[in-house]
Amino acid sequence: MSGIIQLLPDHVANQIAAGEVVQRPASVVKELVENAVDAKATEIKLIVKDAGKTLIQVIDNGLGMNVTDARLCFERHATSKIRHAEDLFALHTKGFRGEALASIAAVAHVELKTKQDQEELGIHIIIEGSKLVTQEVAVLPKGTSFLVKNLFFNIPARRNFLKSDNVELKHIIDEFERVALAHPAISFTMISNGSEVFNLPSSNYRQRIVNIFGGKTNEKLVPVAEETEILKISGFVGKPEFAKKNRSEQFFLVNNRFIRSPFLHHAIMNAYDGLLRDNNQPSYFLYLEVPPHTIDINIHPTKTEVKFDDEQALYAILRSTVKHSLGMFNVAPVLDFERDATLDVPYDYKNKTSSTPLIQVDSTFNPFATETETKRYSGSSASYAKSTPSQPHWESLYTDLKQDTFEVSTTSFENEVVASKLFDETQVESQTLMYQFNRKYIIKSMKSGLLVIHQNRAHQRILYEQFLTNITVHQASSQQLLFPLEIQFSREEMMYLKEIQPNLEGIGFAFEKMGFDEVVISGLPAQILDTEVNAILHDLIYNLQENLPEDSFSLSDSISKFMAKSVAVKSGKYLNTIELENLVNGLFACKDPNVSPFNKPIFITLTTEDLDKRF
Ligand code: ADP
Ligand code: MG
Repeated sequence: MSGIIQLLPDHVANQIAAGEVVQRPASVVKELVENAVDAKATEIKLIVKDAGKTLIQVIDNGLGMNVTDARLCFERHATSKIRHAEDLFALHTKGFRGEALASIAAVAHVELKTKQDQEELGIHIIIEGSKLVTQEVAVLPKGTSFLVKNLFFNIPARRNFLKSDNVELKHIIDEFERVALAHPAISFTMISNGSEVFNLPSSNYRQRIVNIFGGKTNEKLVPVAEETEILKISGFVGKPEFAKKNRSEQFFLVNNRFIRSPFLHHAIMNAYDGLLRDNNQPSYFLYLEVPPHTIDINIHPTKTEVKFDDEQALYAILRSTVKHSLGMFNVAPVLDFERDATLDVPYDYKNKTSSTPLIQVDSTFNPFATETETKRYSGSSASYAKSTPSQPHWESLYTDLKQDTFEVSTTSFENEVVASKLFDETQVESQTLMYQFNRKYIIKSMKSGLLVIHQNRAHQRILYEQFLTNITVHQASSQQLLFPLEIQFSREEMMYLKEIQPNLEGIGFAFEKMGFDEVVISGLPAQILDTEVNAILHDLIYNLQENLPEDSFSLSDSISKFMAKSVAVKSGKYLNTIELENLVNGLFACKDPNVSPFNKPIFITLTTEDLDKRF
């Protein structure tokens, strides 16, 4: 009697296995580029279209394959890299499972062209969904080209599951950077939808890092070097003052392979203890070499996690090496034994220059001119819903208000309760019956009770609606800068910037130049100061990277939101009577004055009855 168990046909087994290896276009990029590295290529070129959904091509000048191998490489467990189980403990190659090509061929249309140096002719093979379509000899240059089209053509569910092009491209760039960082001697190029994203010549580690992350990176790097029996460390860590809000510049490369290790990351954070502003992340590019038999990279199919024999020892060595390098860099220039350590300025204040408070008067302001247009709050928000939020006159008064916002945010006053005085003297005379309380809330009396407004959220709402309108109608005025601003970005940040350039222009940015790793800005939105723009744009890109929106409306929405968040007046900022009034008027001229762009309540009301009940 025959049983019910059957062996799965190869193409089905391959498709199932593909689920492990090929999650998204970036996985294909990783496998193909790593194969090219293993084939000892000195030049590798990556071409993608539509974030790899339509096409991924990797061209190398490596060893190539002969006819037999060119057919065999698509079989499962077909590899030239290991022969015996013991080889797993002495790995010198990226690949070893012999699964990648079989998996890719199971879920895409694949074209392989390859030729070995000593051969006259090469071979051209087309495989679709594991089935051989053609195989012929061809005149080819030395090396290999893999072309992968229509990924997941036969698994619609998978294809639909892919994220927007922005998101998928970010994953591809991440994989590309990791391999490129590990192999600076190999020259790499990446082209996306016809334009060059990276062009990295053969170089050393330092130059490779700078070529990927932008010219400014060079000055941030502190060299790290240590050699012990169980671990050799080289590479660079970032100077603490350049620490970023995100973890995009943190790389461990163990035996030339990018790995993730929360444990080793912790060792680095420990070495930076006391040197970082809260929650900031240091950059590090650390190359670790350990004897191959002391690590197991076999615990995860996509191989970014490894197991070390003696983690504790590695932790200790890494921590003290990094600490030592940071110390050298900090102490060497000032060997001053007389110095009283208690006089040292804490990190947060080290770079702050003291400034004379200055009073700015906006001479163009005429309090009477706006009388007819500035609608005063009368207790009913409905009466303001109709008014246009686009050009409120109180904007002109914001010139001096904005001056301080950046400073406040960098010295993290945000949540501090600064003034304990109940009311500022300037407001005693106030007929408006409006007070700023604790430099955080605006309290306004109305006929029916009290209105308590969150100043930061109110301003976020006003700015958000302005930005969103301006992006959509593309009519914002731009203030021309006398001296154009040059701002540096990493290659990856530049990709995002180019993507959102039209939106930013809608808000009022004018770009004179969009280079490889820098932009020149010649005009700014009225709401943004030139001293803030660097931080605001970096913040914006960081936020978009973290939560990349799927469609263009949500992209505009997110840009407006995050921009409003960084530009808005912070809690802790003193506002004078006129500023208070403008803020309140501006708020109630908004389409939705109730909640902030991040859906938090902006104000609460305390009615006379509420108060009566409490007495
Ligand atoms: P693995 O890399 O784990 O061995 P793959 O499925 O990625 O498995 O590749 C199978 C084999 O195909 C490799 O072992 C190698 O011999 C050959 N191969 C793949 N890509 C290339 C390439 N770009 N140049 C030369 N040989 C290659
Ligand atoms: Mg491989």
